[in-house]
Amino acid sequence: TVRTRFAPSPTGLLHIGNARAALFNFLFARHHGGQFLLRIEDTDKERSTQKAVEVIFDGLAWMGLTPDEAPVFQSTRQPRHTEVALDLLERGLAYRCYCTAEELQAMREEAVAKGLPPRYNGYWRDRDPAEAPPGAPFAVRLKAPREGETVIRDLVQGEVRVANAEMDDLILLRSDGTPTYLHAVVCDDHDMAITHVIRGDDHLTNTFRQAMIYRAMGWNLPHFAHLPLIHGPDGAKLSKRHGAQSVVDFREAGYLPEALCNYLLRLGWGHGDAEILSRDEQIRLFDLDGVGRSPSRMDYLKLTHVNGVYLRKADDERLTADVMERLTGREGIDTDETVRARVRALMPDLKERAKLLTELADNAAFLGRSVPLTYNAKALKLLDAAGKATLKGLSHTLALVEPFSAGAIDAALRGHADRHGLKLGQIAQPLRAAMTGNTVSPGIDQTLAALGRDEVLARIGAAIA
Ligand code: GLU
Repeated sequence: TVRTRFAPSPTGLLHIGNARAALFNFLFARHHGGQFLLRIEDTDKERSTQKAVEVIFDGLAWMGLTPDEAPVFQSTRQPRHTEVALDLLERGLAYRCYCTAEELQAMREEAVAKGLPPRYNGYWRDRDPAEAPPGAPFAVRLKAPREGETVIRDLVQGEVRVANAEMDDLILLRSDGTPTYLHAVVCDDHDMAITHVIRGDDHLTNTFRQAMIYRAMGWNLPHFAHLPLIHGPDGAKLSKRHGAQSVVDFREAGYLPEALCNYLLRLGWGHGDAEILSRDEQIRLFDLDGVGRSPSRMDYLKLTHVNGVYLRKADDERLTADVMERLTGREGIDTDETVRARVRALMPDLKERAKLLTELADNAAFLGRSVPLTYNAKALKLLDAAGKATLKGLSHTLALVEPFSAGAIDAALRGHADRHGLKLGQIAQPLRAAMTGNTVSPGIDQTLAALGRDEVLARIGAAIA
């Protein structure tokens, strides 16, 4: 069966490129009826704090990418990494390298001077360890093949190859006994029975070296699929100046996880014209042959558009909960049960007018204000003498509407306009100013119904006072 894994290093943020790799691994495993696993590559003790690990768990849970087995922490597997390296050493497939940091530096400089890439020259490869000073620390290096080439049949990149003569003998264990990243990943992927390694194409050169470790151990290679990276809208490497780039950033900026996932999937994977795909459809349709080879450009406007589509489809209770969370703590905004009920009542209309959750919260904020409201310049203009007179008349009409529902309010407002020879807009605009302190809101009938009669009359009273 297919087994994939997402193997992030806990750096404190879940980058959008990594999040997309996680999504692809998840969808590929589900599509083939296999398992999706999580491995936390926490060998860098400085950076791998509990908090950094939580960021990954939270991000994956938010995106709905739950692993099928308990996460594996790479740091706990160090004894196994050592065991594999010592096994290679015993079988003569790896060797002890006693070079000091200075010697290695000199070797690199020598290579560069000859116009070669900086590399290790294999000094201890065939030397007797007895030549080393007694008790000298050593690294364990793989006796990498020197002839022929290493070929990878990548499921996205196609056949990629490198001449073995171009690669030096990579380190498996450092002189302090810790395993290198390259070595640890191979041991872990093998032991976790990973069949498909799907990751960013920045790892492609690592793959050649990892293939050498697999071959030395006599292990089957997994299939590899290296995904092109995500670039900014200008084609440069995605960075802070382009906008949000970590999962937390997107969440705070008001994106829904299903919109982000849908967008990330379509970024670099195509299936006809279909833009909006449910998770079930994604699982049914996803395969690696639809993944393109060139870098994708992040298009924030497109993502926002997709978010708007998902926002209109989203459940009102869920959106209300999100908006209340975003409003909590804002100055001058109450977030008690009454306000919650108003937001919930107006949600079907509010969500038609916003593309982001942040925008939705901004548009809903007036529901949590209390009298007297503060009015912006445009609202004040509408609350001139004529506006106030209109509002005064309206307060009598609205006091009598029964029930205080959008339908009944609409009928009452129309009747009122007819009786006073006014256009509907002439009464809706001062009402809007009085209700919101601004000049925009959903339909005035829905807005008044959501606020409730007492609050409507209180806001009118404050506006004409
Ligand atoms: N831990 C590596 C990273 O965060 C990924 C390793 C892999 O996927 O093989 O870039």
